[in-house]
Amino acid sequence: MNPLEVRTAAELAADGPLFADETTPLAQAVQDSVLARQSALRGQPMSRPTHTRVLVVANQKGGVGKTTSTVNVAAALTQLGQRVLVVDLDPQGNASTALNIEHRRGVPSTYELIVDGVSLTEVTTSCPDVEGLDVVPATIDLAGAEIELVSVVARETRLLRALQAHDRIGPAESAGEERYDYVLIDCPPSLGLLTLNALVAGAEMLIPIQAEYYALEGLGQLLETVEMVRKHLNPRLVVSTIMVTMFDARTRLAAGVAEEVREHFGDRVLKTTIPRSVRVSEAPSYAQTVMTYDPGSPGALSYLEAAREIVTKGAPT
Ligand code: ADP
Ligand code: MG
Repeated sequence: MNPLEVRTAAELAADGPLFADETTPLAQAVQDSVLARQSALRGQPMSRPTHTRVLVVANQKGGVGKTTSTVNVAAALTQLGQRVLVVDLDPQGNASTALNIEHRRGVPSTYELIVDGVSLTEVTTSCPDVEGLDVVPATIDLAGAEIELVSVVARETRLLRALQAHDRIGPAESAGEERYDYVLIDCPPSLGLLTLNALVAGAEMLIPIQAEYYALEGLGQLLETVEMVRKHLNPRLVVSTIMVTMFDARTRLAAGVAEEVREHFGDRVLKTTIPRSVRVSEAPSYAQTVMTYDPGSPGALSYLEAAREIVTKGAPT
């Protein structure tokens, strides 16, 4: 064909993915190679832990990527052959939204689980779009739990009890083949009784840190709380994983923050940082994780890599 000839959209489309959307050919080529790599990765289920790992995703700061990381790591883990349960512990219910789980008032939720003592089985639903992923949604009722729990017996251990009583949580010997490999708890942006319940119920903490100004501010308070919990309520708890989120490779600030985080936390920081990406932030408005919304995007690939790191590292000993 004469290169100067004007081509129709249909002809361009026939050229394949290089012209499939508005991205530049180079960006598309990168994305294609990423996709190829990802499907290769996806084809390989990783070995399951011998005991359910309960990860608490917490940071009392809002907007650092707790919910985004919870839902995307959860979905990524299922792509690696793991069985996952997400517990939405934030009254906002953003994790429930992103996982396409109904969470209007009245739906059995974490509120009933923690406040009323309803069993985990009764409040768990399957994520319709991600195989191997179950969810306990949060409704707005949970907002009241923070206060209602104050007068409840054993108020800090309600979630722990609920998890312990479940037949699919625990070691392979008792929880069997159908056991959950990972339970991810998405905490609200505070250090109240809900977060405390999560810290008592889990053995590992995953702290997302936004690569921004003041990233480390407030972390001291979080780590003090962790120490307090270790001492009095849950000696198993360790900060196993730090994840740098919303990383903007173009700014020196982001690189500086990431470096500071690494100096402070060493190899507990995942090698994979999560880039700031529009695809990641728009996925929830389609009730999806970025893993299903745009599996070839850099955000999805990063979450998949991060999940692989978490699996490879294994539970802390
Ligand atoms: P938290 O749960 O800690 O409050 P969220 O996960 O809700 O934080 O994230 C806060 C905001 O930042 C949300 O609007 C989310 O879509 C956006 N966000 C999170 N991670 C990314 C990312 N990697 N790139 C772009 N936006 C992001
Ligand atoms: Mg959140």
